[in-house]
Amino acid sequence: MTTATMNGVDRYIEAARAATAKRAELRARVRKLRFDTIAVHGMYGLEEAFAGGQGGIVEPIFPSTSQAYRDSDEMEAALSYRIPTWCYSRIHNPTVFYLEETLALLESYGCAADATGLCTSSGMSAIKQAIEPLVARRGNEPINFISTAQVYGGTFQLFNLRMAERGAEVRWVTEPWKIEAWEPLIDEHTRFLYAEMPSNPQQACTDLEAAAELAHSHGLPLIVDATVATPALMRPLAHGADIVVHSLSKTAGAGGNAIAGGIVARHGLTARHLDDDQRADYALWLKLWPFRDSGPCMTPISAHYLLNEMRTLRLKMAQMSQNTMVVARYLADHPKIERVDYLGLEHHPLHELASRYMKVVDDETPAYGHLMSFIIRGSAADARVFFDGLQRTFRATDLGRIKSVATIPAISTHQQQGEEGRRLAGIPPTMVRLCVGAEHPADTIDDLDQALAQI
Ligand SMILES: *Cc1c(COP(=O)(O)O)cnc(C)c1O
Repeated sequence: MTTATMNGVDRYIEAARAATAKRAELRARVRKLRFDTIAVHGMYGLEEAFAGGQGGIVEPIFPSTSQAYRDSDEMEAALSYRIPTWCYSRIHNPTVFYLEETLALLESYGCAADATGLCTSSGMSAIKQAIEPLVARRGNEPINFISTAQVYGGTFQLFNLRMAERGAEVRWVTEPWKIEAWEPLIDEHTRFLYAEMPSNPQQACTDLEAAAELAHSHGLPLIVDATVATPALMRPLAHGADIVVHSLSKTAGAGGNAIAGGIVARHGLTARHLDDDQRADYALWLKLWPFRDSGPCMTPISAHYLLNEMRTLRLKMAQMSQNTMVVARYLADHPKIERVDYLGLEHHPLHELASRYMKVVDDETPAYGHLMSFIIRGSAADARVFFDGLQRTFRATDLGRIKSVATIPAISTHQQQGEEGRRLAGIPPTMVRLCVGAEHPADTIDDLDQALAQI
């Protein structure tokens, strides 16, 4: 078709094709850069800054709910998804898109397959969006999925209650680090395998490569919640996982300014219950259809905060991992502590498995993140005396902060799942979860020390 014979809609499609090709070329170039460079710049380069950002060195915040079109032809081309468009901010937003690209590029760093990112309003909505199409009902057949028993409290409720309400049964793997524990739970009605690694708060680990292989041998996807590790320490896609979900409210957003989530899905994932077009680019398909129809979008302000967090992700994760190691060694030697669970300690039964997967990116030093838990020697009341005695460490149901935060999981994050659920997940009332921040570790130790002296 020559330009003269094109109608208006086609002309917009033609123009968009050139712009899309240029963007793909830029993305291919960015994908070849090192982790820190991608984290700092993402897809917002000089050209982008001068084209739409008025020269600003930081991605602009676009609060606009929608995009105006030049004429009816452009509107028709855009709303039939035949040209890239911002159309309406529940679906697409330029600021959120910069974050989605950065997240996808970091999470697929070192992975042969490319991936697409989708940002969501929270970590829970990311998990829900990622799994919903996989448990879609066809007729009356039973549906199940397999998950590590050690999951975040909200995930436990989503899997145990909300998924049961729609007829999808969760089957828990209590010892997910043993790959042979997964296989007997899989049958012809299984839709996906799900692993939280390391889990919050128990730090359970899964052999990701073995789990991906097992999932794929049954035509199923492996989904990994890598919230605690972040792509600075672990990138499950490179180990064969199909989908990574994140609570960006936590470690990735260490400053603590936004509730947010993200999904990164590899292109061409394994999932025999999905159609070809769903598998080809699952995160994009989610964005254009089910996500659009449910509406758990991220605000551009949150994306702005998180883009800034991403730039220093590796630095923070390396430093906080180091600090946590110092604090963990101090606690391990303390007479009032019964047990310290930190993957970085050699005595931790999963230390070796974690060491295979958790390393500072581009540097390869083993690093185990800043989540740890410990058990107070004594009663539940003793644990509360210690907890109430903390003077700088914040008591908060929170995780992954640049500031040290502590919680008692049995009375907070894991309260609602009840005694039985907590027993299954290995959470006694004397357990304290501590996320060591970026303060000098000697000061963090001083605070813990004076609080322990109060028991
Ligand atoms: C907090 C958390 C979630 C849920 O994220 P929100 O952003 O709070 O919705 C999911 N997974 C893990 C591991 C978490 O710590």
